[in-house]
Amino acid sequence: MADTTLYELLNVRKGAADAEIKKSYRKLAKEFHPDKNPAAGEKFKEISFAYEVLSDPEKRQTYDRYGMEGIKEGGGGGGFGGFGGGGGGFGGAGMFEDLFGGFFGFPGMGGGGGGGRARRRRGEDTFHPLRVGLEDLYNGKTSKLQLSKTVICKKCSGAGGRAGATARCRTCSGRGVKVTLRQLGPGMVQQMQSICPECHGEGETISEKDKCKECRGKKVVSETKILEVHVDKGMKNEQKIPFRGEGDQLPDVEPGDVIIVLQQKEHELFTRSGQDLYMTKSIGLTEALCGFQFVVRHLDDRDLVVTNPPGEVVRPGMVRTVEGEGMPMYRSPFEKGSLYIKFEVTFPTNNFVAEPQLKQLETILGDRPVVEIPEGEDVEEVNMVSYEDTRGTGGAAARSEAYHDDDDEMGGGQGGPRVQCAHQ
Ligand SMILES: [Zn+2]
Ligand SMILES: [Zn+2]
Repeated sequence: MADTTLYELLNVRKGAADAEIKKSYRKLAKEFHPDKNPAAGEKFKEISFAYEVLSDPEKRQTYDRYGMEGIKEGGGGGGFGGFGGGGGGFGGAGMFEDLFGGFFGFPGMGGGGGGGRARRRRGEDTFHPLRVGLEDLYNGKTSKLQLSKTVICKKCSGAGGRAGATARCRTCSGRGVKVTLRQLGPGMVQQMQSICPECHGEGETISEKDKCKECRGKKVVSETKILEVHVDKGMKNEQKIPFRGEGDQLPDVEPGDVIIVLQQKEHELFTRSGQDLYMTKSIGLTEALCGFQFVVRHLDDRDLVVTNPPGEVVRPGMVRTVEGEGMPMYRSPFEKGSLYIKFEVTFPTNNFVAEPQLKQLETILGDRPVVEIPEGEDVEEVNMVSYEDTRGTGGAAARSEAYHDDDDEMGGGQGGPRVQCAHQ
Protein backbone atom coordinates (compact mmCIF):
# COMPACT_ATOMS: atom_id res chain seq x y z
CA MET A 1 0.00 0.00 0.00
CA ALA A 2 1.20 3.49 -0.77
CA ASP A 3 2.77 5.48 2.03
CA THR A 4 0.64 8.36 3.34
CA THR A 5 2.78 9.41 6.31
CA LEU A 6 3.50 12.87 4.91
CA TYR A 7 -0.18 13.55 4.37
CA GLU A 8 -0.92 12.41 7.91
CA LEU A 9 1.77 14.73 9.25
CA LEU A 10 -0.08 17.65 7.67
CA ASN A 11 -3.53 16.41 8.71
CA VAL A 12 -4.81 16.14 5.16
CA ARG A 13 -6.07 13.27 3.04
CA LYS A 14 -4.07 11.95 0.14
CA GLY A 15 -5.98 13.69 -2.62
CA ALA A 16 -6.04 17.07 -0.90
CA ALA A 17 -5.84 20.21 -3.02
CA ASP A 18 -2.67 22.31 -2.90
CA ALA A 19 -4.46 25.16 -1.15
CA GLU A 20 -5.72 22.81 1.52
CA ILE A 21 -2.23 21.45 2.14
CA LYS A 22 -0.83 24.96 2.35
CA LYS A 23 -3.48 26.09 4.80
CA SER A 24 -2.99 23.09 7.07
CA TYR A 25 0.79 23.44 6.97
CA ARG A 26 0.64 27.12 7.96
CA LYS A 27 -1.53 26.30 10.92
CA LEU A 28 0.73 23.45 12.09
CA ALA A 29 3.96 25.35 11.45
CA LYS A 30 2.70 28.12 13.69
CA GLU A 31 1.72 25.68 16.39
CA PHE A 32 5.00 23.76 16.36
CA HIS A 33 7.40 26.58 15.58
CA PRO A 34 10.57 26.14 17.69
CA ASP A 35 10.40 29.77 18.83
CA LYS A 36 7.06 29.09 20.37
CA ASN A 37 7.46 25.47 21.28
CA PRO A 38 11.13 24.48 21.77
CA ALA A 39 10.21 20.90 22.65
CA ALA A 40 8.58 20.36 19.29
CA GLY A 41 11.71 20.86 17.18
CA GLU A 42 11.56 17.39 15.64
CA LYS A 43 7.88 17.72 14.91
CA PHE A 44 8.47 21.04 13.20
CA LYS A 45 11.17 19.50 11.02
CA GLU A 46 8.86 16.67 10.05
CA ILE A 47 6.04 19.02 9.18
CA SER A 48 8.37 21.24 7.17
CA PHE A 49 9.73 18.26 5.32
CA ALA A 50 6.23 16.95 4.57
CA TYR A 51 5.22 20.33 3.19
CA GLU A 52 8.38 20.63 1.18
CA VAL A 53 7.54 17.39 -0.61
CA LEU A 54 3.81 17.79 -0.94
CA SER A 55 3.90 21.41 -2.08
CA ASP A 56 6.04 20.45 -5.02
CA PRO A 57 4.06 18.79 -7.82
CA GLU A 58 6.95 16.63 -9.00
CA LYS A 59 8.08 15.58 -5.54
CA ARG A 60 4.52 14.89 -4.57
CA GLN A 61 4.05 12.70 -7.60
CA THR A 62 7.23 10.77 -6.84
CA TYR A 63 6.15 10.36 -3.25
CA ASP A 64 2.68 9.18 -4.24
CA ARG A 65 4.19 6.59 -6.51
CA TYR A 66 7.24 5.39 -4.60
CA GLY A 67 6.74 6.56 -1.06
CA MET A 68 9.60 7.81 1.13
CA GLU A 69 12.13 5.59 -0.62
CA GLY A 70 11.43 7.40 -3.87
CA ILE A 71 12.01 10.76 -2.22
CA LYS A 72 15.14 9.63 -0.46
CA GLU A 73 16.74 7.89 -3.40
CA GLY A 74 15.63 10.38 -6.04
CA GLY A 75 16.51 13.37 -3.95
CA GLY A 76 19.96 12.07 -3.17
CA GLY A 77 19.26 12.94 0.42
CA GLY A 78 18.84 16.64 -0.32
CA GLY A 79 15.42 16.76 1.23
CA PHE A 80 16.55 15.32 4.53
CA GLY A 81 19.90 16.99 4.67
CA GLY A 82 18.29 20.36 4.35
CA PHE A 83 16.75 19.95 7.74
CA GLY A 84 19.61 18.24 9.45
CA GLY A 85 20.94 21.51 10.70
CA GLY A 86 17.70 22.37 12.39
CA GLY A 87 16.30 25.82 12.87
CA GLY A 88 15.90 28.06 9.93
CA GLY A 89 16.76 25.63 7.17
CA PHE A 90 13.37 26.05 5.64
CA GLY A 91 12.72 28.75 3.13
CA GLY A 92 12.26 29.68 -0.51
CA ALA A 93 15.88 29.50 -1.57
CA GLY A 94 16.48 26.27 0.29
CA MET A 95 13.49 24.66 -1.25
CA PHE A 96 14.62 25.68 -4.68
CA GLU A 97 18.04 24.33 -4.12
CA ASP A 98 16.70 21.05 -2.83
CA LEU A 99 14.40 20.88 -5.77
CA PHE A 100 17.17 21.31 -8.28
CA GLY A 101 19.76 19.43 -6.37
CA GLY A 102 17.36 16.66 -5.71
CA PHE A 103 15.46 16.30 -8.90
CA PHE A 104 17.71 17.45 -11.63
CA GLY A 105 20.73 16.10 -9.89
CA PHE A 106 19.44 12.55 -10.15
CA PRO A 107 22.29 10.14 -9.79
CA GLY A 108 23.45 9.29 -13.26
CA MET A 109 22.14 12.46 -14.84
CA GLY A 110 25.34 14.42 -14.71
CA GLY A 111 26.86 16.17 -11.75
CA GLY A 112 28.87 13.32 -10.37
CA GLY A 113 31.48 14.76 -8.07
CA GLY A 114 28.82 16.27 -5.90
CA GLY A 115 30.91 19.11 -4.57
CA GLY A 116 28.56 21.79 -5.84
CA ARG A 117 25.65 21.14 -3.53
CA ALA A 118 25.61 23.44 -0.55
CA ARG A 119 23.74 21.20 1.82
CA ARG A 120 24.20 17.47 1.96
CA ARG A 121 23.16 14.53 3.99
CA ARG A 122 25.36 14.15 7.04
CA GLY A 123 27.17 10.92 7.87
CA GLU A 124 27.05 9.30 11.27
CA ASP A 125 29.41 10.23 14.09
CA THR A 126 31.86 7.56 15.15
CA PHE A 127 32.94 7.12 18.75
CA HIS A 128 36.36 5.90 19.86
CA PRO A 129 37.27 5.26 23.50
CA LEU A 130 40.64 6.52 24.71
CA ARG A 131 42.04 5.03 27.91
CA VAL A 132 43.83 7.60 30.04
CA GLY A 133 45.38 7.57 33.49
CA LEU A 134 44.37 9.96 36.25
CA GLU A 135 47.87 11.41 35.83
CA ASP A 136 46.97 12.34 32.23
CA LEU A 137 43.83 14.13 33.36
CA TYR A 138 45.88 15.97 36.00
CA ASN A 139 48.85 16.95 33.85
CA GLY A 140 47.32 17.00 30.37
CA LYS A 141 48.69 14.91 27.53
CA THR A 142 48.69 14.57 23.77
CA SER A 143 47.79 11.13 22.48
CA LYS A 144 48.09 9.91 18.95
CA LEU A 145 45.20 7.76 17.86
CA GLN A 146 45.42 5.73 14.69
CA LEU A 147 42.19 4.89 12.96
CA SER A 148 41.19 3.74 9.53
CA LYS A 149 38.52 5.59 7.62
CA THR A 150 37.13 5.71 4.12
CA VAL A 151 38.02 8.73 2.02
CA ILE A 152 36.87 9.84 -1.42
CA CYS A 153 39.14 8.24 -4.00
CA LYS A 154 41.62 10.88 -5.13
CA LYS A 155 42.29 9.30 -8.50
CA CYS A 156 38.72 9.57 -9.76
CA SER A 157 37.61 12.31 -7.34
CA GLY A 158 34.85 10.04 -6.18
CA ALA A 159 33.36 9.44 -9.61
CA GLY A 160 34.24 5.76 -9.60
CA GLY A 161 35.51 5.78 -13.18
CA ARG A 162 36.64 8.02 -15.98
CA ALA A 163 34.44 11.00 -16.82
CA GLY A 164 31.31 9.98 -18.63
CA ALA A 165 31.79 6.34 -17.82
CA THR A 166 28.81 6.19 -15.55
CA ALA A 167 25.55 5.13 -17.04
CA ARG A 168 22.08 5.18 -15.64
CA CYS A 169 21.23 1.82 -14.13
CA ARG A 170 19.01 -0.06 -16.53
CA THR A 171 17.39 -2.22 -13.88
CA CYS A 172 15.92 0.68 -11.91
CA SER A 173 16.11 3.45 -14.54
CA GLY A 174 18.35 5.43 -12.22
CA ARG A 175 15.96 5.51 -9.32
CA GLY A 176 18.00 3.25 -7.11
CA VAL A 177 14.89 1.44 -5.96
CA LYS A 178 13.13 -1.50 -7.44
CA VAL A 179 9.34 -1.43 -7.22
CA THR A 180 7.47 -4.68 -7.44
CA LEU A 181 3.72 -4.99 -7.50
CA ARG A 182 2.09 -8.04 -6.04
CA GLN A 183 -1.52 -9.00 -6.59
CA LEU A 184 -2.93 -9.81 -3.16
CA GLY A 185 -6.51 -10.33 -4.26
CA PRO A 186 -9.09 -8.88 -6.61
CA GLY A 187 -8.45 -5.17 -6.79
CA MET A 188 -5.74 -5.33 -4.13
CA VAL A 189 -2.16 -4.71 -5.11
CA GLN A 190 0.74 -4.53 -2.74
CA GLN A 191 3.56 -2.28 -3.76
CA MET A 192 6.97 -3.30 -2.48
CA GLN A 193 10.16 -1.34 -2.74
CA SER A 194 13.67 -2.55 -2.37
CA ILE A 195 17.14 -1.20 -3.00
CA CYS A 196 18.07 -1.96 -6.60
CA PRO A 197 20.36 -5.02 -6.55
CA GLU A 198 22.13 -4.01 -9.73
CA CYS A 199 23.44 -0.59 -8.66
CA HIS A 200 23.02 -1.02 -4.88
CA GLY A 201 20.71 1.97 -4.75
CA GLU A 202 23.07 4.38 -6.46
CA GLY A 203 21.05 4.62 -9.64
CA GLU A 204 24.11 4.36 -11.82
CA THR A 205 26.53 1.73 -12.97
CA ILE A 206 30.03 1.79 -14.38
CA SER A 207 31.12 -0.83 -16.83
CA GLU A 208 33.94 -3.05 -15.62
CA LYS A 209 36.55 -1.69 -18.07
CA ASP A 210 35.84 1.93 -17.13
CA LYS A 211 36.08 1.48 -13.40
CA CYS A 212 38.72 3.48 -11.58
CA LYS A 213 41.76 1.27 -10.97
CA GLU A 214 42.38 2.79 -7.57
CA CYS A 215 38.96 2.26 -5.95
CA ARG A 216 37.62 -0.31 -8.41
CA GLY A 217 34.53 1.78 -8.97
CA LYS A 218 33.72 2.07 -5.26
CA LYS A 219 34.45 5.84 -5.22
CA VAL A 220 36.08 5.55 -1.83
CA VAL A 221 39.27 4.00 -0.51
CA SER A 222 40.38 3.06 2.98
CA GLU A 223 43.01 5.24 4.61
CA THR A 224 44.86 5.24 7.89
CA LYS A 225 44.59 8.49 9.75
CA ILE A 226 46.38 9.61 12.87
CA LEU A 227 44.52 11.99 15.13
CA GLU A 228 46.32 14.06 17.74
CA VAL A 229 44.10 14.05 20.78
CA HIS A 230 44.79 16.81 23.28
CA VAL A 231 43.75 15.67 26.72
CA ASP A 232 43.54 18.92 28.68
CA LYS A 233 44.21 19.34 32.38
CA GLY A 234 41.09 18.70 34.40
CA MET A 235 39.20 16.70 31.77
CA LYS A 236 36.92 14.03 33.12
CA ASN A 237 36.10 10.40 32.61
CA GLU A 238 33.57 10.04 29.74
CA GLN A 239 34.40 13.50 28.44
CA LYS A 240 34.02 13.75 24.66
CA ILE A 241 36.59 15.33 22.39
CA PRO A 242 35.09 15.89 18.93
CA PHE A 243 36.96 16.03 15.64
CA ARG A 244 34.59 17.78 13.27
CA GLY A 245 34.18 16.16 9.88
CA GLU A 246 36.76 13.43 10.46
CA GLY A 247 34.24 10.62 9.96
CA ASP A 248 34.07 8.39 6.91
CA GLN A 249 33.84 10.22 3.62
CA LEU A 250 31.20 9.07 1.17
CA PRO A 251 30.12 10.64 -2.10
CA ASP A 252 27.43 13.27 -1.55
CA VAL A 253 27.53 12.88 2.19
CA GLU A 254 28.93 15.41 4.60
CA PRO A 255 31.27 13.38 6.82
CA GLY A 256 30.21 12.98 10.43
CA ASP A 257 32.48 13.65 13.40
CA VAL A 258 34.96 11.38 15.08
CA ILE A 259 34.33 11.65 18.79
CA ILE A 260 36.94 10.53 21.28
CA VAL A 261 35.51 9.43 24.61
CA LEU A 262 37.93 9.48 27.54
CA GLN A 263 37.94 6.39 29.72
CA GLN A 264 39.83 6.91 32.95
CA LYS A 265 41.78 3.95 34.28
CA GLU A 266 41.50 3.34 37.99
CA HIS A 267 44.34 4.82 40.02
CA GLU A 268 45.92 2.70 42.71
CA LEU A 269 45.97 5.47 45.31
CA PHE A 270 43.51 8.21 44.36
CA THR A 271 39.88 8.19 43.42
CA ARG A 272 38.32 11.25 41.91
CA SER A 273 35.01 12.92 42.53
CA GLY A 274 34.51 16.10 40.54
CA GLN A 275 37.47 18.31 41.30
CA ASP A 276 38.46 16.48 44.47
CA LEU A 277 40.73 13.53 45.12
CA TYR A 278 40.24 10.92 47.82
CA MET A 279 42.74 8.55 49.35
CA THR A 280 42.92 6.24 52.35
CA LYS A 281 45.92 6.11 54.65
CA SER A 282 46.55 3.31 57.15
CA ILE A 283 48.41 4.26 60.31
CA GLY A 284 49.27 2.41 63.48
CA LEU A 285 47.96 3.13 66.93
CA THR A 286 51.22 4.75 67.95
CA GLU A 287 50.97 7.20 65.04
CA ALA A 288 47.32 7.83 65.75
CA LEU A 289 48.19 8.82 69.31
CA CYS A 290 51.66 10.29 69.03
CA GLY A 291 51.73 12.13 65.69
CA PHE A 292 53.29 11.15 62.40
CA GLN A 293 54.55 12.19 58.99
CA PHE A 294 54.09 10.45 55.69
CA VAL A 295 54.77 11.13 52.03
CA VAL A 296 52.22 11.13 49.22
CA ARG A 297 53.51 10.89 45.68
CA HIS A 298 51.14 13.19 43.77
CA LEU A 299 49.94 12.79 40.17
CA ASP A 300 52.55 15.24 38.90
CA ASP A 301 55.30 13.31 40.75
CA ARG A 302 55.64 15.87 43.52
CA ASP A 303 56.10 14.42 46.99
CA LEU A 304 53.68 15.87 49.49
CA VAL A 305 54.91 15.61 53.06
CA VAL A 306 51.91 15.34 55.34
CA THR A 307 52.41 16.03 59.04
CA ASN A 308 50.12 15.35 61.96
CA PRO A 309 51.67 16.89 65.06
CA PRO A 310 51.98 14.98 68.34
CA GLY A 311 48.95 15.61 70.48
CA GLU A 312 46.43 15.60 67.65
CA VAL A 313 44.71 12.27 67.92
CA VAL A 314 43.56 10.57 64.73
CA ARG A 315 40.52 8.37 65.22
CA PRO A 316 39.67 5.51 62.85
CA GLY A 317 37.67 6.78 59.87
CA MET A 318 38.66 10.39 60.42
CA VAL A 319 39.07 12.52 57.29
CA ARG A 320 41.53 15.37 56.86
CA THR A 321 41.59 17.87 53.98
CA VAL A 322 44.58 19.19 52.07
CA GLU A 323 43.30 22.21 50.18
CA GLY A 324 44.49 22.91 46.67
CA GLU A 325 45.84 19.41 46.09
CA GLY A 326 42.82 18.03 44.21
CA MET A 327 42.33 17.95 40.45
CA PRO A 328 42.89 21.05 38.33
CA MET A 329 39.77 22.68 36.96
CA TYR A 330 39.14 22.15 33.25
CA ARG A 331 40.05 25.32 31.30
CA SER A 332 41.22 26.99 34.52
CA PRO A 333 43.96 24.60 35.60
CA PHE A 334 45.44 26.82 38.30
CA GLU A 335 42.31 26.34 40.34
CA LYS A 336 42.39 23.02 42.09
CA GLY A 337 40.06 20.98 44.26
CA SER A 338 40.95 19.37 47.58
CA LEU A 339 42.65 16.16 48.57
CA TYR A 340 40.75 14.25 51.24
CA ILE A 341 42.68 11.73 53.31
CA LYS A 342 40.73 9.16 55.26
CA PHE A 343 42.62 7.44 58.07
CA GLU A 344 42.41 3.81 59.01
CA VAL A 345 44.00 2.94 62.31
CA THR A 346 45.62 -0.46 62.65
CA PHE A 347 45.48 -1.72 66.24
CA PRO A 348 48.18 -3.93 67.81
CA THR A 349 47.80 -7.71 67.72
CA ASN A 350 46.88 -9.86 70.74
CA ASN A 351 49.43 -10.07 73.51
CA PHE A 352 51.62 -7.43 71.91
CA VAL A 353 53.24 -6.71 75.25
CA ALA A 354 53.59 -8.45 78.57
CA GLU A 355 51.30 -7.62 81.47
CA PRO A 356 53.61 -5.34 83.44
CA GLN A 357 53.95 -3.10 80.40
CA LEU A 358 50.20 -3.09 79.96
CA LYS A 359 49.96 -1.75 83.50
CA GLN A 360 52.42 0.95 82.47
CA LEU A 361 50.32 1.80 79.46
CA GLU A 362 47.29 1.98 81.67
CA THR A 363 48.88 4.57 83.86
CA ILE A 364 49.59 6.68 80.77
CA LEU A 365 46.19 6.28 79.10
CA GLY A 366 44.32 6.91 82.29
CA ASP A 367 41.92 5.21 84.63
CA ARG A 368 39.33 2.77 83.38
CA PRO A 369 35.70 3.34 84.32
CA VAL A 370 34.65 1.71 87.57
CA VAL A 371 32.01 -0.95 86.95
CA GLU A 372 29.88 -2.09 89.82
CA ILE A 373 29.42 -5.84 89.55
CA PRO A 374 25.98 -6.85 90.77
CA GLU A 375 25.48 -9.89 92.94
CA GLY A 376 22.68 -12.42 93.35
CA GLU A 377 21.24 -15.44 91.55
CA ASP A 378 20.22 -13.45 88.46
CA VAL A 379 23.85 -12.63 87.82
CA GLU A 380 25.83 -14.90 85.57
CA GLU A 381 29.32 -14.66 84.24
CA VAL A 382 29.67 -15.39 80.51
CA ASN A 383 32.61 -15.79 78.14
CA MET A 384 33.30 -13.89 74.97
CA VAL A 385 34.92 -15.76 72.11
CA SER A 386 35.81 -14.60 68.63
CA TYR A 387 32.73 -14.03 66.49
CA GLU A 388 34.51 -15.48 63.44
CA ASP A 389 35.40 -18.66 65.35
CA THR A 390 31.79 -19.44 66.20
CA ARG A 391 30.26 -18.39 62.85
CA GLY A 392 32.73 -19.87 60.38
CA THR A 393 33.81 -17.51 57.64
CA GLY A 394 31.08 -15.11 58.66
CA GLY A 395 29.37 -14.47 55.29
CA ALA A 396 25.84 -13.13 55.32
CA ALA A 397 24.35 -16.48 54.29
CA ALA A 398 26.31 -18.38 56.90
CA ARG A 399 25.19 -15.94 59.54
CA SER A 400 21.49 -16.21 58.74
CA GLU A 401 21.76 -19.99 58.83
CA ALA A 402 23.44 -19.73 62.17
CA TYR A 403 20.51 -17.73 63.48
CA HIS A 404 18.18 -20.47 62.31
CA ASP A 405 20.18 -22.98 64.26
CA ASP A 406 19.72 -20.83 67.32
CA ASP A 407 15.94 -20.99 66.93
CA ASP A 408 15.99 -24.74 66.53
CA GLU A 409 18.12 -25.23 69.56
CA MET A 410 16.15 -22.83 71.67
CA GLY A 411 16.02 -24.30 75.10
CA GLY A 412 18.81 -26.80 74.49
CA GLY A 413 21.82 -24.53 74.36
CA GLN A 414 23.93 -23.50 77.30
CA GLY A 415 22.33 -20.74 79.26
CA GLY A 416 19.23 -20.76 77.05
CA PRO A 417 16.61 -21.79 79.58
CA ARG A 418 17.92 -19.35 82.13
CA VAL A 419 17.55 -16.43 79.77
CA GLN A 420 14.03 -17.48 78.84
CA CYS A 421 13.07 -17.81 82.48
CA ALA A 422 14.53 -14.44 83.18
CA HIS A 423 12.13 -12.88 80.67
CA GLN A 424 9.00 -14.53 82.00
ZN1 LIG B 1 19.72 0.21 -10.21
ZN1 LIG C 1 38.61 5.90 -7.84
